[in-house]
Amino acid sequence: MARYTGPVCRLCRRENTKLYLKGDRCYTEKCAIDRRTYAPGQHGQGRKRETEYGLQLREKQKVRRIYGVLESQFRRYFEMADRQKGITGENLLKILERRLDNVVYRLGFANSRKEARQLVRHGHFRVDGVKVNIPSFLVREGNVISVAEKSLNSPKFKELSENLGQKAIPSWLSLDANKLEGTVIGQPTREDIDLPIQEQLIVELYSK
Ligand code: SF4
Repeated sequence: MARYTGPVCRLCRRENTKLYLKGDRCYTEKCAIDRRTYAPGQHGQGRKRETEYGLQLREKQKVRRIYGVLESQFRRYFEMADRQKGITGENLLKILERRLDNVVYRLGFANSRKEARQLVRHGHFRVDGVKVNIPSFLVREGNVISVAEKSLNSPKFKELSENLGQKAIPSWLSLDANKLEGTVIGQPTREDIDLPIQEQLIVELYSK
């Protein structure tokens, strides 16, 4: 199945919430959801009655879109979360947080998860010194994420080295801005995931 490549602001409008898919622009008055508060499409401004199923489905779609994950992969993450001890919904979010593209974004190496994904794909990052160009790679405690030596001289990373460290980093990661290097120092907790998600609705949807 092809990955969605259309206008991403449309996805936020569909979910009626900010998904922060466009980096800095999301924090400005240019944000599309602030200007047009209705869903996209011909019937976007019509009356709608949300069913229980509809609410669960929208929550699942919202999370998939935030992390840029396809349905089949998302389902696999859910099954993985369900096999783990603890609360399945929280486990699911913690797995998604450990994706390498998300970690690159959280460390401030990219403005959005989409940009992070592209940087990873292009081979700009190392995990414990080894090239990893798979955005879905799940990091573990102790992993060190660094920028490839050959990438350090590129304009993108030169600019980044001047601005890195200005963004808040979640407690399970640490950043050495001078070395352009991040370390996984723990496991993500639910409190670290600052997104308006009701993960229980996703569990209910998949448990039908
Ligand atoms: Fe969503 Fe960002 Fe577009 Fe606003 S600017 S609608 S938050 S992607």
